[in-house]
Amino acid sequence: MESLEAELERARGLEVAELADAIETIGFECTRCGACCKSEADDPHTATVFPDEVRALQDAPSRDPDGSNDLPDAPREWRDVARPMPYGVEDGAGETFEWALQTDACGDCTFYEESEDGTGACSVHADRPLICETYPFSVALGGTSQPMGEPVDSVALGDRTDATGDDEAGAVRAHECEGLGREISREDAEELAAALKARAVRELREAIGVRDAYEPIDPDGGVVVHDSEGAKRPDGSTYDG
Ligand code: SF4
Repeated sequence: MESLEAELERARGLEVAELADAIETIGFECTRCGACCKSEADDPHTATVFPDEVRALQDAPSRDPDGSNDLPDAPREWRDVARPMPYGVEDGAGETFEWALQTDACGDCTFYEESEDGTGACSVHADRPLICETYPFSVALGGTSQPMGEPVDSVALGDRTDATGDDEAGAVRAHECEGLGREISREDAEELAAALKARAVRELREAIGVRDAYEPIDPDGGVVVHDSEGAKRPDGSTYDG
């Protein structure tokens, strides 16, 4: 399998125009249904947020015109914004390797607000994390990553294949969303494409940082989150043993 560093170089070399072509081919317009911000069935919402994005959201001004969520005013506590990604955590204990956006009592993203007619909105839209800015798209590089589960649509980038037959240039993938297939302007496609490239690079930088900073820790009945800055407690403070 290709190293993370090699994959990062490939991400840095992605052509925004080519990503935008793929997005235009698939088509997308947000219908503000809120599906990507809410819990699904009985599963709470999970969306990856990077440590620097958590800090930005701690200070982000909130737009909450009808008070439909209980978002505290900025500056917020780390726990108001993020929670340990539950994968790897059992019975409230374990090591995990990502932060997820905090959820409310319904399991929806803590920043999600909904008007009475069911129209959804993000109360920190201008500061939302890259994963929100780019949903429902992801980039797969050389078939080595499967971010966000199985895609419902995919457009290959270029027609180069490597010795294994994998598409060397990668692909833009689309994930379940009722807004797919709608016409998108070139300007919007390019904006989305630039964010998609930034996210691909950021995800790989974070993965390399986590790998390099990781030291096994016995959480002693609690939760430890290993991110690119080291080991942290669920309140975002440094884990000092
Ligand atoms: S931060 Fe905003 S866009 Fe992202 S999941 Fe929460 S409400 Fe939705």
